[in-house]
Amino acid sequence: MAENKRALIHSVASERIEALFQKAKESVKSDPSLAGRYVRLMIKISTHYRVKMPASIRNSICKNCNSVLSPGLNAVVRIVSSRRYVAYTCEKCGYERRIFYGTGNKPTLRTPVKSQSPSK
Ligand SMILES: [Zn+2]
Repeated sequence: MAENKRALIHSVASERIEALFQKAKESVKSDPSLAGRYVRLMIKISTHYRVKMPASIRNSICKNCNSVLSPGLNAVVRIVSSRRYVAYTCEKCGYERRIFYGTGNKPTLRTPVKSQSPSK
């Protein structure tokens, strides 16, 4: 019974997070402060009900100022191939979020790192 209730709460909370994110994405261009309000509500729901936000949503929110990162509008996206990450820089506050990729192919101690750096 308790497990069912918890599952129900989790599903409703994640539904609301998704809905709020859609609203935030729609209003980021016309009213950025409203989008920020939606994001703060999402974070509140997520922490209160201990529901993990999906990575797709988590990666498109600025951790520092809670704004929805929209490339070309308020975010700059760079690919740093030498360090294997994608950098999302918020233009509102300057916070940079790094999303690493290809971590499965991390250079180990046996493979010399110097042989990869001259391609810079
Ligand atoms: Zn920011």
